Amino acid sequence: MKIKVMKFGGTSVRTPEARMQAALKVLSAKEQGYEPVVVVSAIGRRGEPYATDTLGDVLLSVDPTTKPEPREMDLMISCGEIMSSVIFATLLKGLGCPSMSFRGGQAGIRTDGVYGNARILGIHPVAIVESIKRGFVPVVCGFQGVWVEGQLPGAELTTLGRGGSDTTACALGAALNADAVEIYTDVDGVKTADPDFVKEAPTLRKVTYDEVAEIAHLGAKVVHPRAAEIAMKFSIPLWVKSTFSEEIGTEIVPGKDLPGRRVTGVSHTGKLVYLSVNLASVTPEHRLEVEAKLYATFAKYRVNLYLTNIGVNSIGFAVARDEFPAVQDMLDALVLPFQKPETTIYIVQSSDKPSQAFETQLELLSPLGDIKTVPVSVTEGCTLVSVVAYQYLQQPGVYWEVLSLLHDAQIPVLQTSDSDYSLSVLIPESELRRAVQLLHEKFELTQAH
Ligand code: ADP
Ligand code: MG
Repeated sequence: MKIKVMKFGGTSVRTPEARMQAALKVLSAKEQGYEPVVVVSAIGRRGEPYATDTLGDVLLSVDPTTKPEPREMDLMISCGEIMSSVIFATLLKGLGCPSMSFRGGQAGIRTDGVYGNARILGIHPVAIVESIKRGFVPVVCGFQGVWVEGQLPGAELTTLGRGGSDTTACALGAALNADAVEIYTDVDGVKTADPDFVKEAPTLRKVTYDEVAEIAHLGAKVVHPRAAEIAMKFSIPLWVKSTFSEEIGTEIVPGKDLPGRRVTGVSHTGKLVYLSVNLASVTPEHRLEVEAKLYATFAKYRVNLYLTNIGVNSIGFAVARDEFPAVQDMLDALVLPFQKPETTIYIVQSSDKPSQAFETQLELLSPLGDIKTVPVSVTEGCTLVSVVAYQYLQQPGVYWEVLSLLHDAQIPVLQTSDSDYSLSVLIPESELRRAVQLLHEKFELTQAH
């Protein structure tokens, strides 16, 4: 069986016309002798009736004083993909192509049970394979799977986080040993920068798994970073293509198949908040453990930290702005107790003005020993701009070029970080557009291919 997984994003299933374009791509894959397995996202974007965010907003508006349970939220927002898959399967049927829709669980996608941001643990796509054998094109709901080890009998629905349908597609591709996974979207492929910022940004014909994982991780939402990682791990032939054109798109290939280029592109992750935890009050004996407990807390709640910086008296890191309220909550009034050398209790204060929870902890714990405050200072309105460069660490000079360019343009750089494949700078959000455009120009990316 020559299987091709074809994933269609929100804009590709938004209107009857768009869905027809997408369906024609599926029929054409079938004509070429593939067995297509379709993965769909929910229909449209926030504000449109069946979009993921709209469904979430409906639940949030039930009672503004009651936070919905993550479990209920997941069930609510997963409806978008269910509708989308049923509609798409029915469209295919009308075009003479027998088709069946599947929820994530029916497609055999098992997760770790973290509501809202679950990871796929494994896929047993027996029903998908069976439906193909019976002559149907399976249409699988993206963005969802089930947790089978929950506290109640029966599988619990969990969603996979933003961009999760890309992950569904790549994971299914791996489980089905697919010939190719194609991510169809509203642009021709992976570009050298966000086309909303740089109109003339060209589409790259080939990029390596490492580059695309880095580009995605650093904010280009054209492919989800987890999807790129799965594709890399299982060496799945991956493509990013447009639903609305016949362009060949971007092929994602192993590093050995592509001679390294100097700079691949410029990415940006929208909205960040920079936090600095002041550890001046922490005694040296406790320092490492305090840090470890903080990092363990972030890990437990699965918060992504960017630009971590360990200083003499502080640790700093950036978090996504939409995660910031949760991060502030999880840090606020966090108690870190120690018994040796004498009883010391640290309490984290995560906002300028001590919260009620902080005041309460302070009052309750004061009789127990020495109480020390660990204050957190917050810089809102930051953003991360990154130059993705193949094997950046082997390219002396890029750092200087980036920093001097931004300096000359009077764009302040609050923090930098690097990896094997990128250099990132934290700058004020107000300068984002200008920084992306200047860097794109500086590295002559309009000529990239
Ligand atoms: P879908 O709904 O199909 O999953 P997304 O909105 O998640 O689509 O991703 C596609 C969008 O990603 C494009 O419309 C484009 O605006 C944006 N984008 C950001 N950076 C890039 C990039 N480097 N290359 C291509 N697209 C990018
Ligand atoms: Mg997407």
